[in-house]
Amino acid sequence: MSSAILVLSGPSGAGKSTIIDAASSEIGEYYFSVSTTTREPREGEEDGKDYYFVSKEEFEADIKAGNFLEYATVHGNYYGTSLKPVREALAQGKLVIFDIDVQGHRLVRDAMGDIVVSAFITPPTLSELENRLTSRGSDNIDVINARIENAKDEIKAIDEYDYVIINDSIDEAKRAFVAIANAARYKMSNAQSAKFVQEWLGN
Ligand code: ADP
Ligand code: 5GP
Repeated sequence: MSSAILVLSGPSGAGKSTIIDAASSEIGEYYFSVSTTTREPREGEEDGKDYYFVSKEEFEADIKAGNFLEYATVHGNYYGTSLKPVREALAQGKLVIFDIDVQGHRLVRDAMGDIVVSAFITPPTLSELENRLTSRGSDNIDVINARIENAKDEIKAIDEYDYVIINDSIDEAKRAFVAIANAARYKMSNAQSAKFVQEWLGN
């Protein structure tokens, strides 16, 4: 088994955090990539656990310094994945889980496609997404509307993903996620497979 990246995308409110939390004791050792963002923290969110919350200036300094594996503007704010901790976790053979949007998925595929497994997660319908965003109670109506508009575009990228998880029952969605995460660990990078073939042949 080797290190791999599991990208989880889906509209805000799809249930990505809920499912990762629910599955966390069943997917072995993994590293969750904590993103950096310029958006305001929601009630209950912790700096360093949910995100690193920074100013626009700090974020742009990190871009300049080449600190991001990928970054994108989502709903008018910057979001990015720091390269260093991801590299370290991969070097330790860990499964690295990303919760990033469809733009980020494309960029990570371009950079590290041979070790990426991806899943798109969505509620069964757009109206169910609206219900969940409303009942989560963490965003005002303008923010919710922007997220819904964005979701109508994001859903069109569903066929770029290896797997789709329809989050109707949390339990079933969790089971699907556990199966995908465990399968991702069997992904081999191009370099690893070339080395394996050499050794297998006895060269
Ligand atoms: P995301 O991380 O994708 O933005 P969350 O995990 O915060 O989404 O979930 C959005 C809201 O929907 C939360 O209030 C969560 O409790 C709720 N939720 C998640 N999955 C389900 C489900 N299967 N059925 C009903 N509510 C759900
Ligand atoms: P939220 O504000 O609801 O936490 O996240 C909004 C969107 O940004 C979600 O689609 C989430 O997956 C995405 N996102 C979170 N972190 C990153 C990141 O580091 N890079 C990219 N490209 N998207 C991210």
